[in-house]
Amino acid sequence: MKDTNFSIKVNDFLAWNAFADSIEFSDKFSTSLPQLHTWVACTISIKNGDDKTVFLDIYNTSYELQNHCDVCGQGYIQTKNIEHLFLKCYADYDENLLEEDELSFDSKYATIDLEDVLVQEIQLRDEIKKMCKTCEESSNSQVLETPEQNNIKRVYTQ
Ligand SMILES: [Zn+2]
Repeated sequence: MKDTNFSIKVNDFLAWNAFADSIEFSDKFSTSLPQLHTWVACTISIKNGDDKTVFLDIYNTSYELQNHCDVCGQGYIQTKNIEHLFLKCYADYDENLLEEDELSFDSKYATIDLEDVLVQEIQLRDEIKKMCKTCEESSNSQVLETPEQNNIKRVYTQ
C-alpha cells in the first residue's frame, strides 16, 4: 500500500498544548505526480504562532522523477531536493487573501494537507527541457567552448 496521506494534525498547536515539533515524511506518494519514481520525503518542523496560526518549515524535500531525455529519448531517473520551504498556515482564513507562502485550513479538523503544496513546488521545479546526464554534459561543454571562440574572434578583429 502506498502512503498518500500528506496531512498533519495541528490541534495541539492551536490549543497551545504544543509549541514545537518535528515530523518526518518518509514515503509519501501522490497520484498528481505520475512521473514520481519512488516517493516524496521531507522533514517538517511545526511551530505555533497564535490560536489561529501555525508556522511550518519544510526541510529537504527529496524525490526522484522518471524523465525522458528530449535530446536522445532515453529514460532516466532524476534525483531532486528542495532545501527549504516556509509556510504560514491560518485557520479559517479567506482563501482570496492568501499570499504565496500562506495556506488556509479548516479549524474544525485542525489538519493541514501538504499534498497540493508539495506537488506544486515539485512541478514548479520541473525543467521544460529534459536532458539526461550524458546529453547535459555534452551540451555544457559546448556552451563552455562558445565564449572562448568568440573572444578569440574579437581579438583578431580589433
Ligand atoms: Zn539524453
